[in-house]
Amino acid sequence: MIKIERREDCSGCTACASICPVDAITMRPDAEGFQYPKVNEKKCIECHLCERVCPIANRKVEQVKKQDAYLFQLKNKTLRMESTSGGAFTAIATQVIREGGVVYGAAYDEDLQVIHMRADSIEDLRKFRNSKYVQSNLGNVFREIRDLLKENQKVCFSGTPCQVEGIKSFLGKLCITDNLLLVDFVCHAVPSPLFWRKYIHWQEKRLSVKIGNVRFRDKRHYGYKYSQMVITDENGGERYHQGVESDPYLRAFFSNLSDRPSCYSCAFKKRYRESDITLWDCFDVGLKAKTLDDDLGTTNILVQSERGAEWIAKLKDDVMIPIEANKCVAGMRELVRSVPQAENRAAFMKDVADKDMQEIINIWLPVNLRIKMKTFLRHGLIDLGLYSFLKKLLMKRRLNRNFDSSY
Ligand SMILES: Cc1cc2nc3c(=O)[nH]c(=O)nc-3n(C[C@H](O)[C@H](O)[C@H](O)COP(=O)(O)OP(=O)(O)OC[C@H]3O[C@@H](n4cnc5c(N)ncnc54)[C@H](O)[C@@H]3O)c2cc1C
Ligand code: SF4
Ligand code: SF4
Ligand code: SF4
Repeated sequence: MIKIERREDCSGCTACASICPVDAITMRPDAEGFQYPKVNEKKCIECHLCERVCPIANRKVEQVKKQDAYLFQLKNKTLRMESTSGGAFTAIATQVIREGGVVYGAAYDEDLQVIHMRADSIEDLRKFRNSKYVQSNLGNVFREIRDLLKENQKVCFSGTPCQVEGIKSFLGKLCITDNLLLVDFVCHAVPSPLFWRKYIHWQEKRLSVKIGNVRFRDKRHYGYKYSQMVITDENGGERYHQGVESDPYLRAFFSNLSDRPSCYSCAFKKRYRESDITLWDCFDVGLKAKTLDDDLGTTNILVQSERGAEWIAKLKDDVMIPIEANKCVAGMRELVRSVPQAENRAAFMKDVADKDMQEIINIWLPVNLRIKMKTFLRHGLIDLGLYSFLKKLLMKRRLNRNFDSSY
């Protein structure tokens, strides 16, 4: 039976719990709020399926293959604004629904916890738009998808690379069907659902509202290149917006303090993946295709399989520019390298487990002079119209320092 000796060796993909024929495995949160499998030894029949299905214990060797790549923008600007980058995911999922399929992705439940859900209509895809920087709870989704595939239903599953490898491993031979489309993205890491819950309660208290929605990457204030964490109330009224340098949740995330242990030595960071399509942000669109640089968002699309190519070929209504795959992935560190673990992560996460959000902020994320200066500087650069220009220079530097031409 599966045994987790080191926390970093489990991404919480649920493949083991889903495959167990006697339901001996349940996913339970640890003190940091991340889900891990827990085996009921009395129920276990020692079939070893859980060990065989684990995508970390049975790491796939990366297979170099031909890849096509595109820059993508939805023509519908409202939907592009709602999306994280160029809205490629919405375009792909819409096509799946048009063909009678169903789509699975990450959305909020009524308590704003991030869970994987199903969408059956184009309108319902709205709940998936915009990245949620929290580990999603997969629940029983792998088994649901297996049952749908057995009924010959078309299914698109989107998720982190570890979730995609997990479902692929769980489905086994059932994957060999044109009815399944697997979409992943370049994944920085996923933060703790417990930290997220504490942040939401803290915001509700200080804003004195019932929060209706949170958008991690809202572009309405300062555009795509400086997107904001935006909180709206139940009536859709905006109550809060802060950037990556000042919002405490985003600061912890981008300081690599709050991520799942497996994210710091991720087994799924690679260019040639098990998914059919890989998506990510195109902040350097000005260097790749100047005419697309409208600061409303562009998605990089990397096609990983023939099945992915067939679906991408159907996206004819929107802006899609082919680009050489090596050029598309150049400089994209998060595609292939894990983020470094912050030195003080263990102490931070201990406080996440034990303290309330205000105490955590006071200790770890105070709004000091440095933070105020950073915010002031960013806003000043935006007002002077220099922010986009400087970000472009930074992207250029990153490309020039490109670590390996094969990436
Ligand atoms: C946790 C996380 C980390 C990311 N890190 C990077 C990065 O380092 N660099 C980069 O360039 N891009 C990163 N991305 C991808 C990027 O944010 C966009 O999702 C991508 O550009 C596609 O944008 P889109 O406009 O096509 O669709 P979007 O509007 O982003 O569509 C949302 C899709 O993402 C899925 N999704 C959202 N949140 C989650 C979640 N918590 N777990 C699983 N699936 C989720 C939804 O189900 C949906 O399929 C990350 C995304 C997430 C969720
Ligand atoms: S060995 Fe088999 S029965 Fe035991 S926990 Fe694993 S899958 Fe379940
Ligand atoms: S990575 Fe997935 S399959 Fe492996 S132990 Fe963790 S939850 Fe189970
Ligand atoms: S960084 Fe790796 S382990 Fe962490 S969520 Fe992303 S794919 Fe999974």
